[in-house]
Amino acid sequence: MPKEEEKQQKYEPFRTPKGVHDILPNDHEFHTFIKKVVRHRARQAGYRRISTPIFEYTELFKRSIGDSSDIVSKEMYTFEDKKGRSLTLKPEGTAGVARAFIQHGMSQMPQPVLLYYFEPHFRYDKPQKGRYRQFWQFGFEVLGESDPALDAQVIQLANKIHEDLGIDGLFDLQLNTIGTPEARKKYMQVLEDYYVGKERSLCENCKNRLTTNPLRLFDCKEEDCQILAQLAPVMKDYLDKESLEYHDELLEYLDEIGIKYVENQKLVRGLDYYSKTVFEFWDKNDGAQNAIGGGGRYDGLVELMGGQNTPAVGYAAGVERIIANMKKEKVRVPSKDEIHVFVAQLGKEAKKKCLPLIEDLREAGLKTMGALGKGSINVQLRLADKFEVSYAVLIGITEVREGTAIIRDMEKGVQETVEIEKVVDRLVKLIGEDSLDRYSPGELLYS
Ligand code: AMP
Repeated sequence: MPKEEEKQQKYEPFRTPKGVHDILPNDHEFHTFIKKVVRHRARQAGYRRISTPIFEYTELFKRSIGDSSDIVSKEMYTFEDKKGRSLTLKPEGTAGVARAFIQHGMSQMPQPVLLYYFEPHFRYDKPQKGRYRQFWQFGFEVLGESDPALDAQVIQLANKIHEDLGIDGLFDLQLNTIGTPEARKKYMQVLEDYYVGKERSLCENCKNRLTTNPLRLFDCKEEDCQILAQLAPVMKDYLDKESLEYHDELLEYLDEIGIKYVENQKLVRGLDYYSKTVFEFWDKNDGAQNAIGGGGRYDGLVELMGGQNTPAVGYAAGVERIIANMKKEKVRVPSKDEIHVFVAQLGKEAKKKCLPLIEDLREAGLKTMGALGKGSINVQLRLADKFEVSYAVLIGITEVREGTAIIRDMEKGVQETVEIEKVVDRLVKLIGEDSLDRYSPGELLYS
């Protein structure tokens, strides 16, 4: 390409790949708030945080979630590394946590082991509102004990967090038991028999589901498939006594703590590892389509992955959908990004005064920006206005010479001249101790 043409060539700006999105600063305020709520409630209940890797061996997800699940059969981001190992970006959190439980000998710890996570997940889903290819979930896992009171507590915790986030009124808790795997097998046979002769009315997906896992027929959104699913035999009639009693006890506990639920005998969850309790929080208007979270008991999973028999229960919720619902409910989250002070200057000598001053202001807990470019004081003040700062500090040639600075109240438009050594104290007083963002490992890092 000739040099001139090369110069003129304009490149198409890059965009995010399909189905993924940036988390811009405003949404990060929601992220931070949700993370803090989750962390607070988790700590109150004795959960500790875990992060598993973004990718794991593909086999881990295949064995735990199940080959016939939508996730494994259609939605995984799977790739080979340079040595030909098959790896997959994690599509959900529980499999990795169960793997970590085994790998780190957590069965030796006091049981139950309580863990929570806040992580990105990846699914090759059809992108649409509330459905992305990279999305964040937080989740709780209770490993090592089986008791309906634990299931009730996990549901209670989820509920509490939804309340804290101001969105609990938008969702119904849908609840079911899918029994033990043995009891379920019996029921699946009954289902297969029920569908004999009705295959032609099913969508292509459901025809496949019939041979791989008939329970999944209940998840289909196609109208004809849904009608047939509504008329199908009910799982409860085929479940084992133990699972039914377990479920009744769970309902008693939920009643006791005043948590409302909808018994939904067609709720099965899309993953193979569940047993007994399953639940989801469905949007009151859109139903399963816009669920914000779901979970259940997965008693066989740890053993299936090579560990000891370890009953467990958990819950996971989608952060993007929570944020969308918080916005719908006009929930306001605290913004900690507001700037207190804007330092404006004129010339190199003034900059020399500004640099240490900015550092001192920040050390004192004042969130401070400095326009140390070349604009005039007026241009800098306009910038300060745009950032909606409370105060500006101006240092020009006169102030350098006299060892002073001007403090300007941006709202009132009044200003005062102060000795440069007194600027920090004066601003701390003006802004107020309570609003400071002071670096203190004890408070800032762990608050
Ligand atoms: P699941 O375990 O698949 O029911 O997922 C739990 C929650 O994660 C869902 O209720 C959603 O809130 C969220 N979630 C799942 N898949 C996606 C996705 N592709 N995009 C956004 N959020 C999702």
